[in-house]
Amino acid sequence: MIENIKAAAGAGGTKNRHGYYLLSKFEILQCGDVEKLIKKRATQDEDPVYYVCIEDTYDVVKRAHTATGHGGRDRMAEEVNKKYANITREALEIFKSYCQECQQKRKRPKTKGVVVRPILTKEFASRAQVDLIDMQSMAQNSFKWIMVYQDHLTKFVILRALTSKRAAEVAHNLLDIFLLVGAPSILQSDNGSEFTAEVISELKLVWPRLVMVHGKPRHPQSQGSVERANGDIKDMLVAWMGDNNTNDWSVGIKFVQFQKNSSLHSGIKRTPYAAMFGCEAKVGLTSSSLPTEVIERMQSEDDLLLAFSSLQDSTINLDPAQTTSQEPSQTTSQEPT
Ligand SMILES: [Zn+2]
Repeated sequence: MIENIKAAAGAGGTKNRHGYYLLSKFEILQCGDVEKLIKKRATQDEDPVYYVCIEDTYDVVKRAHTATGHGGRDRMAEEVNKKYANITREALEIFKSYCQECQQKRKRPKTKGVVVRPILTKEFASRAQVDLIDMQSMAQNSFKWIMVYQDHLTKFVILRALTSKRAAEVAHNLLDIFLLVGAPSILQSDNGSEFTAEVISELKLVWPRLVMVHGKPRHPQSQGSVERANGDIKDMLVAWMGDNNTNDWSVGIKFVQFQKNSSLHSGIKRTPYAAMFGCEAKVGLTSSSLPTEVIERMQSEDDLLLAFSSLQDSTINLDPAQTTSQEPSQTTSQEPT
């Protein structure tokens, strides 16, 4: 493809319909010595969307599957489409259907079918839930519980390993979270309102200014969504331990937390991270628009500057339309969303 495009764009090249077609659909991105086929962009400022060759497809799909914590087709598609143009839904489905961890997960008993009701009003937006997942059967470094904190509006999840289910320990961890991302008005828990009330009074001891009420543990708007989240977290954690060949879930929950927050949430039609912070989560240069091969070679900031400067002016963009007119026929690259 790259050779054909170069031939079509070349000065002395004979232009035929196919050549014009190629130039209207594709571009070649050059970064140092790496040449990549990308989708035709309206302007050079747009982030490149890469075409993946068949040899690299498996790795790209695998990365998306891992990044979303063994996510399903839609979550993977959301992840993959940020950077790649030609990964089909079929490819994602095939990968998912052959993933060992996912097959085992299907064999595990499913949590009862629950309906997620997205929150429609912001009236009770400032609500959060704190639950405890029992891990006593596989204690790690004296950690026996997972504290699951979830903000109801954004679905943002924060996970902490606890040594006990004492209200004081829960409050201590919540304090850290509240002072980082703010505190909700209503706090609720599957452990019951008595537990929640105790946690709130513990919080009040260290932070007298904080006023919050304990909510009904079974708030109709949240029922289901939290239940499902807790089951999801356990599944993702089991898959992470399998992938990494370890039992240390106290480390795993940190990764699961990130996977969950940066994957598409079907109820809110975006990632919890984006709902919380207004932009997508970045994984260093991995999230940058540079080609993967180039990223992997990076060592110093100088390498980075070099790559970006070589990217800026060496894009092989020889669309003849662009040299003659400012309005090339690019409407074809726009896809309805
Ligand atoms: Zn999987």
